[in-house]
Amino acid sequence: MTSANNPPDDGYHLDTRAIHAGQDPDPSTGAIMTPIYQTSTFVQSAPAEHQGYDYSRSGNPTRTALEALIASLEGGRHGLAFASGMAAIDTVLRLFDPGDHIVVGSDVYGGTYRLFERVLARYGLRFSWVDLSDLAATRAAITPETKLLWLETPTNPLMGLADIAALAALLPEGVLLGVDNTFASPALQQPLLLGADIVMHSSTKYLGGHSDVVGGLLALNDDELVERLRFLQNAVGAVPGPMDCFLTLRGIKTLGIRMARHSSNALAIAQFLEDHTAVQRVIYPGLQSHPQYELAVRQMRGFGGMISIILASEPAARQMVSRTKLFALAESLGGVESLIEHPHSMTHASTATSPIAVPAELVRLSVGIEHVNDLIADLRAALA
Ligand SMILES: *Cc1c(COP(=O)(O)O)cnc(C)c1O
Repeated sequence: MTSANNPPDDGYHLDTRAIHAGQDPDPSTGAIMTPIYQTSTFVQSAPAEHQGYDYSRSGNPTRTALEALIASLEGGRHGLAFASGMAAIDTVLRLFDPGDHIVVGSDVYGGTYRLFERVLARYGLRFSWVDLSDLAATRAAITPETKLLWLETPTNPLMGLADIAALAALLPEGVLLGVDNTFASPALQQPLLLGADIVMHSSTKYLGGHSDVVGGLLALNDDELVERLRFLQNAVGAVPGPMDCFLTLRGIKTLGIRMARHSSNALAIAQFLEDHTAVQRVIYPGLQSHPQYELAVRQMRGFGGMISIILASEPAARQMVSRTKLFALAESLGGVESLIEHPHSMTHASTATSPIAVPAELVRLSVGIEHVNDLIADLRAALA
């Protein structure tokens, strides 16, 4: 959606698009901020004659602005907004039929594992969990029934990377590549430009950025695929309300500067933790000790705010997460405030008895944008 006063995105940098794309001033009032169209329905001049909107499950102008914005940020033609990240993933998976096969990276968000194996498997979808850093194993997992390769990079919570361009290149015609880009955000990584077909976000995290809204987004290029997804979005109905879309639009305006600060804070903290004797291992893509550091440098424009560390024991991990003061003990991530958690008993408890269970000694940090010295002092005290 562009007008004479708000020229097309082409040529603008991401930081500029984050503030302007999809967000023309309101044509009737000039309001510079996108209005919250808090309405369920729209008056029609004659049956089926309207101004582009008939019912807010099918479409709402505040949502349209957010959908245009995510498309622009990901370098795609189309965007779709959902009530949560899980609703976005679920809608993608409804493209498929019983008997269809999906290859999934073996380190994913616990809720994704739960949706795939405990809900969608009951409807006849079949899943194979594969270490995507092993390209030969990934190729071997693809069968004639395979319709989708679904991955996260960096992964939640083990911070493993997948080589998006290499995986896109090895997929046969007809197998879609879907990338959960929640941890990086489009400020650090744009999977569509590397060959992915669908990019997904839990906008609850870095895009919203302020821990005040739950949401999900998709971005893609294919005109036929977006029609199928729009049909499902309306038919299934897991759409966000206008207020949630407004909060997400508002949060995204500062995405560029937030991600730069998250990344610089996290790098300094990862280096501090790597030198700390109580920490056995620090897993952060921006450290040269990360096994895929070269790929991180090639694929990402910054390394983000998420750090995982391995402590000596589960009690040590539980003690650390209970002792920080600035790092709040909570699930979720990607907000301006720092969070800390124990994935084994919290976010990833649903994988505890599965092949993709996470170590009990693992602690996950979501590094916020507070002053880095205060954050390091908090961690130093908690580890003492
Ligand atoms: C949080 C998260 C999700 C799920 O998103 P919700 O908005 O909580 O439904 C999916 N993938 C990743 C990587 C996440 O961190």
